Amino acid sequence: MTEMLTFLRTSQPTTCPVCGARTLILKESPEEPGSPQIHQCLDTVCQFTFVEEEDLEAFEGVNHDGYSQTGNTQKLRQLRH
Ligand SMILES: [Zn+2]
Repeated sequence: MTEMLTFLRTSQPTTCPVCGARTLILKESPEEPGSPQIHQCLDTVCQFTFVEEEDLEAFEGVNHDGYSQTGNTQKLRQLRH
């Protein structure tokens, strides 16, 4: 069994943490927008596979601070992709 590394989703498009290439979403749960996604690097040599999770704590922090509504909106737009 291979243990997969978990990374937090950011406001940037997801890229491979190893080589920086674009990634393919292998598995996601559309009914649960905040649930972890499994990504695989599209680079044919690298093919690094990892889990990406929504940073829920940061999400709430933005709400409490109230000054970064724009960041919130961007995250929600990403989830609808
Ligand atoms: Zn890669």
